[in-house]
Amino acid sequence: MKVNFLDLKVQYEAIKDEIAEALQAVLDKTAFAGGPFVAKFEEEFAAYSQTEHAVGVGSGTEALWVALLAGGVGPGDEVITVPNTFIATAEAISFAGATPVFVDVDETTHNMDPNLLEAAITSNTKAVIPVHLFGQPADMDLIRIITKKYGLFLLEDSCQAHGAEYKGKRTGSLGDAGAFSFYPGKNLGAYGEAGAVTTNDADLAAKMKIIRDHGQAAKYYHDVIGWNGRMDGFQGAVLSVKLKYLDQWNDGRRRNADLYRQHLAGIEGIIIPAEADFARHVYHLFAIRVQAMNRDAFMAALGEKEVFTGIHYPVPVHLQKAYASLNLGPDSFPVAEKCASEYVSLPMFPELKEEEIRFVSEEIRKILA
Ligand SMILES: *Cc1c(COP(=O)(O)O)cnc(C)c1O
Repeated sequence: MKVNFLDLKVQYEAIKDEIAEALQAVLDKTAFAGGPFVAKFEEEFAAYSQTEHAVGVGSGTEALWVALLAGGVGPGDEVITVPNTFIATAEAISFAGATPVFVDVDETTHNMDPNLLEAAITSNTKAVIPVHLFGQPADMDLIRIITKKYGLFLLEDSCQAHGAEYKGKRTGSLGDAGAFSFYPGKNLGAYGEAGAVTTNDADLAAKMKIIRDHGQAAKYYHDVIGWNGRMDGFQGAVLSVKLKYLDQWNDGRRRNADLYRQHLAGIEGIIIPAEADFARHVYHLFAIRVQAMNRDAFMAALGEKEVFTGIHYPVPVHLQKAYASLNLGPDSFPVAEKCASEYVSLPMFPELKEEEIRFVSEEIRKILA
């Protein structure tokens, strides 16, 4: 049985007519760059995220970067994040002119270990970016207490956690700002590149709107050096359609995670993802850890059965060549490094069928037997 890692097509087929109508409306209005369709989506996404404002930008990477700039991060500053994230979290810090500083993660949530945060703070620390990896919120209470105590800007990397909740509150509403990616494969995916920043801070939202539009508050009067970071009109329109289905799709992912748990139960040599008490996990990825055999061999064996898997991510950021200048060698962050060497992401998307999950699980049982 062929089981794809991700299938964007089934979802598109289900909403095809609505999408076509939405795209036609953008064409009819020729509202291609920013404009009313983006503004409408911003309003809807802010409401969904339980925040006052959402600012649409070109990507999740840009959302992180624009938020850091508006938060006052610049050259000489340090920004604390985790090493087991997509490289974009660190890139945004670097392109704001600051230096990424890492703290290790908690082994059960795979997210920032709040108990390690305070020790990483220096007089240069300006901001902290917890990442809600795989769709599970980081443990935010202690992180928030510490950032408040030191007056640090708290930016959630919520690029994998659309609709996730921490103690009943949506991610993106838990710090000073939240950065979201609408890359097509994300839980809420555009049909192209897009991103947004959520915030309850009106000044911050105003700053971000100016930065993403060439530093202008009025047309051709440029108050600061900005950038072209607008979201395009088609993406705004597509995202408005898709946002209506996000809860339903996340429920599908949660059901699939439960099915995996049932069908994978009792298999020795793997660790199945845990959902923290404080979390409503939205399973952007379902990453197991393979300890009983070589990961490449495990993935190859599944591949032979046409079960397609991924690794998120094989090399933690501090060990990437791009960040060699940080001089952080192996064993700097033992938990993140150990997890990175064991992760295998199983097929996960809302429309995955129980028979497919059963098949994947049975094959895993056979491979590890
Ligand atoms: C996807 C992702 C990003 C970057 O988003 P893009 O839209 O691809 O630029 C940043 N951080 C994390 C954790 C992500 O998963």
